[in-house]
Amino acid sequence: MARVLIIGCGGVASVAIHKCCQCSQVFEEICIASRTKSKCDALAQQLKDKTATKITTAQVDADDQAQVEALIREYKPDLVMNIALPYQDLTIMEACLACKVNYMDTANYEPENTDDPAWRAAYEKRCKEQGFSAYFDYSYQWAYGEKFRQAGITALLGSGFDPGVTQAYCAYALKHQFDEIDEIDILDCNGGDHGYPFATNFNPEINLREVSAPGSYWENGHWVEVPPMSIKREYDFKGVGKKDMYLLHHEEIESLAKNIPGVKRIRFFMTFGQSYLTHMKCLENVGMLSTTPIRFEGKEIVPIQFLKALLPDPASLGPRTKGKTNIGCIFRGKKDGKEKTYYLYNICDHQECYKEVGSQAISYTTGVPAMCGALMLLTGKWTEPGVYTVEEFDPDPYMDALNQWGLPWQEDFAPALVE
Ligand code: NDP
Repeated sequence: MARVLIIGCGGVASVAIHKCCQCSQVFEEICIASRTKSKCDALAQQLKDKTATKITTAQVDADDQAQVEALIREYKPDLVMNIALPYQDLTIMEACLACKVNYMDTANYEPENTDDPAWRAAYEKRCKEQGFSAYFDYSYQWAYGEKFRQAGITALLGSGFDPGVTQAYCAYALKHQFDEIDEIDILDCNGGDHGYPFATNFNPEINLREVSAPGSYWENGHWVEVPPMSIKREYDFKGVGKKDMYLLHHEEIESLAKNIPGVKRIRFFMTFGQSYLTHMKCLENVGMLSTTPIRFEGKEIVPIQFLKALLPDPASLGPRTKGKTNIGCIFRGKKDGKEKTYYLYNICDHQECYKEVGSQAISYTTGVPAMCGALMLLTGKWTEPGVYTVEEFDPDPYMDALNQWGLPWQEDFAPALVE
């Protein structure tokens, strides 16, 4: 019998919670805990007659380690699923360590306050040493590896789609299709249309921070950084059609560079429409993407947080979004001495997701892998104590779970390549 504490009750968490409730044989009891308890109560109410999973709710400020610890000691879960924001990763990991409970999340640590002098100093050192300037990197969470190992507990980092499924695709390709992988291109295409001039598909603050940052890729043992949106390609996506996509820095590149032996190049591309880019540039130019607090009418506000309050809530996009996503990885490498290319991808339909769980496909493609990751930890498929990313575990049971729980994958043995 498994008890799971789920922290966060936004767009992604709501899908993960729906999925856990479809699998009551494993998720027998869940506690949904978030900053705003009324959201947890509303979701629990909505699900209670549709599932055998016993659902309770709680209020928690996960920025406060003591509060998370107290909740864990009271609820005594087998696993804590952190589906709040990357800002809370370290406080929740610390609480899990103190209580010796397994941990998982969907995005790597990023500080909320990027002006904090101690964090800035470490960040600037890392930019110089590593050669990429994203606000997030794995070092803070990898630093817990030995402590988690000694405590006999597991932390699974980044079990969403990208990061997450994309790394399982890499591990699967390496295990079953290649002797050696030379190049990986991760392509994230959202062909959906929500009808708004501008909205983000997941948390606006996290999303806009990510896409307005410089792009970077891994090549021949080091990072190559380029100005934001400066590398553009067109790709014809199955199920979606031709789309412009742009090279971004993305967190899984960092762990894949470490864990895929001999890989020479890893790039990440995401599709954006012209309207999104024009709005983003304009907001950036007027300072609305800034994370530095300003004083406004006697009160301190953070521009990007104010913008978040103005933009549509990503969780509200479900009924309006039509079209499909196509996310996957194209591999180039060698098998039995011969050159080989291979494409693993998933196509997901926004409206189908909405019909099933009341959310659009971006939340769905992240929430399902979060539940599948939890399933791996709870059913003893992935048990090694320590701190791991998805590609470090056996991909086969996770790939099976994706097929079973709503994100079936497809293969192409002669894909068009990205130049
Ligand atoms: P939302 O903003 O919709 O939801 C975040 C939730 O976390 C809200 O319920 C919020 O509560 C809660 N929360 C925020 N701060 C705290 C806190 N201090 N204590 C307790 N709860 C808190 O975000 P999303 O659902 O869009 O994203 C969730 C996570 O998924 C993010 O980390 C995001 O980066 C990640 N993600 C990963 C992807 C992947 O493919 N790997 C893709 C997309 C997202 P409140 O309602 O009070 O604000």
